[in-house]
Amino acid sequence: MPSARKEKLQSPIEYLKGVGPMRAQLLKSELGISSFGDLLEFYPFRYEDKSNLKKVKELVDGENVLLSGTITDYEEIGVGRKKRLVAYFQDETGTLELVWFRSITWIKKILINAQEVQVYGKASLFNRRFSITHPELEKIGEETKTNSVPHFPVYPSTEKLKAKNLSGKNFAKLSATLLPQITPFDLPENLPDAIIKELNLLPRITALQQIHFPENEKMLHDAIERIKFEELFVDQMNICKLKLNKSKVPGHYFEKVGECFNDFYKNDLPFDLTDDQKQVLKEIRQDTKTGYQMNRLLQGDVGSGKTIVALLATLLAIDNNYQACLLAPTEILAQQHYASIKKMLYAQDIKVALLTGSTKTAERNLLLDELQKGELDILIGTHAILEPRVIFNNLGLCIIDEQHRFGVAQRAKMWKKSKTPPHILVMTATPIPRTLAMTTYGDLEVSIIKKLPPGRKPIRTVHRMDHKRSEVMHFIKSEVEKGHQVYIVYPLIEESEKLDYENLEQGYELVSTYFPGHTYNVAMVHGRQNLAQREHNMQGFVKGEAQILVATTVIEVGVDVPNASVMIIESAERFGLSQLHQLRGRVGRGAAASYCILMTGQKVSKVGKERIQTMVNHSSGFEISQKDLELRGPGDMHGTKQSGVLQYKLANIVEDVHLMSLARESALKILALDPQLEQAEHTMLKKFLSISKGSTNWLEIS
Ligand code: ADP
Ligand code: MG
Repeated sequence: MPSARKEKLQSPIEYLKGVGPMRAQLLKSELGISSFGDLLEFYPFRYEDKSNLKKVKELVDGENVLLSGTITDYEEIGVGRKKRLVAYFQDETGTLELVWFRSITWIKKILINAQEVQVYGKASLFNRRFSITHPELEKIGEETKTNSVPHFPVYPSTEKLKAKNLSGKNFAKLSATLLPQITPFDLPENLPDAIIKELNLLPRITALQQIHFPENEKMLHDAIERIKFEELFVDQMNICKLKLNKSKVPGHYFEKVGECFNDFYKNDLPFDLTDDQKQVLKEIRQDTKTGYQMNRLLQGDVGSGKTIVALLATLLAIDNNYQACLLAPTEILAQQHYASIKKMLYAQDIKVALLTGSTKTAERNLLLDELQKGELDILIGTHAILEPRVIFNNLGLCIIDEQHRFGVAQRAKMWKKSKTPPHILVMTATPIPRTLAMTTYGDLEVSIIKKLPPGRKPIRTVHRMDHKRSEVMHFIKSEVEKGHQVYIVYPLIEESEKLDYENLEQGYELVSTYFPGHTYNVAMVHGRQNLAQREHNMQGFVKGEAQILVATTVIEVGVDVPNASVMIIESAERFGLSQLHQLRGRVGRGAAASYCILMTGQKVSKVGKERIQTMVNHSSGFEISQKDLELRGPGDMHGTKQSGVLQYKLANIVEDVHLMSLARESALKILALDPQLEQAEHTMLKKFLSISKGSTNWLEIS
């Protein structure tokens, strides 16, 4: 019996009355709807309140309205890209223009024999006349007249479907046909009773009925909440289960804190650790002596001092006769880690090596050989470390710096580098909004370095227009006179690479005229230089021989020159927020007051302006990342593309922070009581989790 029921939701959409083979094919290719179940989960994107029809006279600028009236005439105006279709609409109270720039041919077809129409869209006032651009337009036919329910569902549709008479509104006919056929047997409750009661959620089937045809505002709201919760909850169950299982993966047992660690700590530590740094080390120590694998995320703003924590953790591994490795996202960063770690370990008998894409073959072969024999203690490098030919003797700890540059899959690769998976510490300076952390990194334990090392002064950030450039140059000069150093960064992206390089070169020449070669040294670093050249120039700046570094974003991550006090970012509007924050983090590392100057032209888009303003107003990476998430929406955030999270149908990680927290709490509560979901009240949930993929295939990650 249950299998027959299950088939109901899996029935091909073609067999739904009113669909048929031709529409079925379109539904599949256009919207991915191939079964009854798919249609059930294809939700309206808005609801039309027909009882709330407006009149032209009542229009308010900028408001979405639904109007009913007649088309008196229409015409095409203009040519080429300016071509538009204008229709003249009228009701008893006045007239209005409807304008289309796209789909003109298609709209004309509707207009030809339409007189009475309904239009929906945003009214805007121009020269005391109202118009609506790209309104939704519908002929008034029998069904439009009759369906005067207060919340009539409108579905997302496409041109091709509209041509087959499946407009956003006609879609409602399909759901109206489908819904009465679905019984609680087809759609059993999947959430445990306890959660439904506690959170006062609608039953599953009610939620699905109500989201398509809501009785009232309140039911609609509850239906949406229930469905969002379910989406988030399924994800959180999977993530928390994974986390639970991970904490049970046998790991290397770091028995002791030994000589390497203690010697270094007593004699060579260049400064006192901050309390936060000490706390993180304690957490790492705890994790590595449980006999289980550590999976920890270290979040700390730019410049918070994660590197030293990483180094101390590697010493812990070495003390316990294990090898350790440190992965960095770029060659320059890997080189810098290598140089600074070698320097710090000068007094220790520890063998450190660097492996990147440009390591010479002979050197590489030697290095790989030593690594496999266990003669190397610490391997620092880039993605090159992930390659299968890189074989460790006994890898005990893997640290991944700037994790947001790596995918989750790459983290997984490191697991396989040792029979017993190594302890994993991932570090990120791109703080993650809470909701994202719960998904992208939800399977990790989290450590945070909140406070920056003592003595840091806040970085003053200002926005300057290009025409103030000479003032900016004067300012740079005064800083250079004080013995400080300055970064000037130019954007560089593939799509406009040629132009970007021209700007960079011009910028370099301009700076060189202000800072002539006989007195000053201006260095330039970019990706077109060969590595030796780039390295040479970079080193010149690191050593303080060059006062000014003109560069592309190759310096974005990790570079550490405490004497630099000014960061100038050219065409700042072209950078993303997290990139701007990373760049700004290159200064403010020494004792001097530091500045970040964001240069732009006059014309900056609205979002661009908002990004700049965010940088000027905020210094905390956490605030900036939250703003970033709000401005860009979740689809675009770091790390989400790779891991494929956040593909929710309804839930939105910007707006639904509260629901996400509830979902996580509920998931943890259930798993604490019944980790394998063996209790009777969890049977349906277990079944549901096994068939629903959720937004991510989390199991692949481990
Ligand atoms: P990030 O967290 O961005 O990787 P780094 O590890 O590069 O930051 O550290 C930034 C700077 O702060 C470095 O110059 C480092 O030597 C210094 N630093 C780190 N910890 C301390 C501390 N406890 N006291 C003083 N300076 C510190
Ligand atoms: Mg760093």
